[in-house]
Amino acid sequence: MPDLPPPSLRLRLDKDALANNWRTLDSMSGTASAGAAVKADAYGLGANEVVPVLRKAGVRDFFVAHWSEAPDVLRHVPPAQVAVLHGPVRPDDAAFANAAGITPVINSLGQAKRWADAGGGRCHLMVDTGINRLGVPLAEIHDPAIAALQIDLLMSHLASADEESALNARQLERFRSACAAVPARRRSLANSAGIALGPDFAFDLTRPGLALYGGVPRDEFAGSVRQVAFPQAAVIQVRELAAGDTVGYNATFTARKAMRAGIVSLGYADGFLRCRGAGGVLRCGEARLPLLGKVSMDMIVVDLADAPEVQEGDWLEIPFDLAATAEISGLSQYELLTTLGRRFRP
Ligand SMILES: *Cc1c(COP(=O)(O)O)cnc(C)c1O
Repeated sequence: MPDLPPPSLRLRLDKDALANNWRTLDSMSGTASAGAAVKADAYGLGANEVVPVLRKAGVRDFFVAHWSEAPDVLRHVPPAQVAVLHGPVRPDDAAFANAAGITPVINSLGQAKRWADAGGGRCHLMVDTGINRLGVPLAEIHDPAIAALQIDLLMSHLASADEESALNARQLERFRSACAAVPARRRSLANSAGIALGPDFAFDLTRPGLALYGGVPRDEFAGSVRQVAFPQAAVIQVRELAAGDTVGYNATFTARKAMRAGIVSLGYADGFLRCRGAGGVLRCGEARLPLLGKVSMDMIVVDLADAPEVQEGDWLEIPFDLAATAEISGLSQYELLTTLGRRFRP
């Protein structure tokens, strides 16, 4: 096959901003050091690009969710520094962790036994302090299967660190009681938002994800966390609309006068869902190009009135200030990142 022509979607990663965000979070973590959550292909930005930058910046603890996500990280990081959050759910997972030298996160007594059956060794332990997602309930932490583990990191996960909630203090208290009961080399409670809750929440290691990638889960990060991802889409056709012409699926926009419109190669599969259509804009430098009609599968149509110089093949910027875009679309900052489609990847 001949070489592919250049794509019509692209993602610029500001690697300096990424490294800078990690250093900011690491320093906000005080005496604790910051690791990095790189699950879901580094929140949609591409583990192959993101992980080497973070490793060079100084990250020594990487977290993925699925076993299938480990190989991309292992290309850049020694296996002992890679942990799989979902843990050894099946015997095959435990055997894989053992053979690869990856650190499993143990989330239940069943997983603890499965890890021991596979030969055991160094692991992390997740305890549940109130999120009721994964983690060993506090009532079970005295079980002999837990006592038999060789625990590097004792961890728990906050449910509501991005808001002022009484649950934060309750989870902190419960985590402290787990720390008193379970011997471990290091302790970790805070995600991105948890870092802003102060030194009591930092322990030995923090585990930011969202804020590394430019997310602002709490006001404390505004101004210090920088935008990392800058998605762009190409204009694949310029059309002259006449008064009365309608645009896109269900013809929800009607041109009131003759106007110039750009067809842009961007749609649902690229994470550009219909909730980003109404009232949305793309940008060309300083010019704002309002969307016309609905996002229509793989295409959107924008008004080129404020950018008469735009031609077919030109690149437009997709606004991706995560806090602002979340506000407008009703999607969470996590969803905006993780739904960026594969077409943005080189
Ligand atoms: C995803 C995840 C994180 C990172 O959370 P952010 O809110 O993205 O900072 C940390 N710890 C665990 C266990 C996670 O699942």
